[in-house]
Amino acid sequence: MEERIVSAEATELEEQSEQGLRPKRLADYIGQETVKHNLAVFMEAAKMREEALDHVLLYGPPGLGKTTLAAIIAAEMGGELRTTSGPAIERSGDLAAILTALEPGDVLFIDEIHRLNRTVEEVLYPAMEDFCLDIVIGKGPTARSVRLDLPPFTLVGATTRAGMLSSPLRDRFGVMARLEYYKPEELAQIVERSATVFQATLEPSAALELARRSRGTPRIANRLLRRVRDFAQVGGEAAISLERACSALEQLHVDPLGLDHIDDKLLKGMIEKFNGGPVGLETIAATIGEEAATIEEVYEPYLLQIGFIQRTPRGRIATPACYAHYGVEKRNG
Ligand code: ADP
Repeated sequence: MEERIVSAEATELEEQSEQGLRPKRLADYIGQETVKHNLAVFMEAAKMREEALDHVLLYGPPGLGKTTLAAIIAAEMGGELRTTSGPAIERSGDLAAILTALEPGDVLFIDEIHRLNRTVEEVLYPAMEDFCLDIVIGKGPTARSVRLDLPPFTLVGATTRAGMLSSPLRDRFGVMARLEYYKPEELAQIVERSATVFQATLEPSAALELARRSRGTPRIANRLLRRVRDFAQVGGEAAISLERACSALEQLHVDPLGLDHIDDKLLKGMIEKFNGGPVGLETIAATIGEEAATIEEVYEPYLLQIGFIQRTPRGRIATPACYAHYGVEKRNG
């Protein structure tokens, strides 16, 4: 996959610098009001009962703040955060090792939880339900199962694909929270906060412009801010102005809606080669030289969100809004 400035996935380098930008408390977490409000109530109630918070499943597109929220839950509940991911836990023994090292009240964060394999997942069921671990000792007819108690803990699972979770796993989460794309005003607040962390001066109009071009995603907003700050710095400017933001974003090929050259290729391809569709996902994939799964998981969600494409049983269609964006008239027939 080509590297994109508007990708919602974090690069390795970014993962480190994101640490400093993550809000630490729920009150500093911007937006997602419903999720925040509900979580605040559930956390308060669990604290009153002196219990661990129920297991939480966070789902939604990448870069919307799932990892950040997991860390906030741990901080608010006064436990440690232990982080791992579905693909990192290969064998049930790996998971047993993680679980037995937990302290009471800890939060275990499993990113990409839909990628856990079945045998590992089965170890998780009794751990989530009864805080215990069933370990099989020995092999063949002499094998026996031993039950180990675990401390009360909270599992926070994150996934971009809630539909791919098996139902026994999904059913064991007491709290399910779907994170939504952010509004421009919320993203503007996020980049303003990040600018303060970077000790950079960002004019409010520039913050809103960055917000509008960030595809509803805080990770992209922070990335655009870093790049625009570079342009301002090299230009010897003390503050990041609207003009600077716009010229830098143009330079980076991020258009006013946050679309880049790959989105352009995809959408223009649909308009020019297929008269706006319906066109199958595989066909689109072949025309732009990408995997169908990548298009479905990475490129398409935002294009669906802004109403530029629609999914129909016969394939994808480019909407009138998409035609209007490119200033093209739809051909009849
Ligand atoms: P995810 O786990 O969903 O991929 P992250 O939690 O890693 O997303 O968030 C990506 C970046 O966006 C982090 O640098 C974080 O600081 C920032 N971020 C996400 N959500 C918020 C928010 N609600 N308020 C402020 N910053 C946020």
